[in-house]
Amino acid sequence: MNCKFVPSVCSYCGTGCGVLFEVIDGKINSTLPLKSHPVNQGKLCIKGWSLHEYINSYMRLKAPLVKENGHFQKATWDEAITHAAKNFNRIKETHGPDAIGVLVSAKVTNEENYLAQKLARAAIGTNNVDHCARL
Ligand code: SF4
Repeated sequence: MNCKFVPSVCSYCGTGCGVLFEVIDGKINSTLPLKSHPVNQGKLCIKGWSLHEYINSYMRLKAPLVKENGHFQKATWDEAITHAAKNFNRIKETHGPDAIGVLVSAKVTNEENYLAQKLARAAIGTNNVDHCARL
């Protein structure tokens, strides 16, 4: 049995608590609080304690899905991005940029949230940007 502990950051919310993953034979087995982390100082909320469960969940999406004829089909990233860009352009040309809204998330980094709002404002041309904490 190969066991190691890997430090990481909880991805459930923007607080950014430090965690320690127990990895056994290449699979994350459990999550522990990182005592030396300045944010959480050895504490986790219930979501942080169960972080490994969604990482290993069979329901976790590991590839983009594109809806075709009412059904989701697995797609490559290139196919999904092309599909999204084509439909953003179609909606923008037909109804204007404010017919599109961009919802960002606490589960991604500040930098990713920044890029999403930049895409909305500079590329699409809308100020319709919101965040999951307000939904
Ligand atoms: S442990 Fe809880 S408070 Fe800390 S980052 Fe994860 S979800 Fe947020």
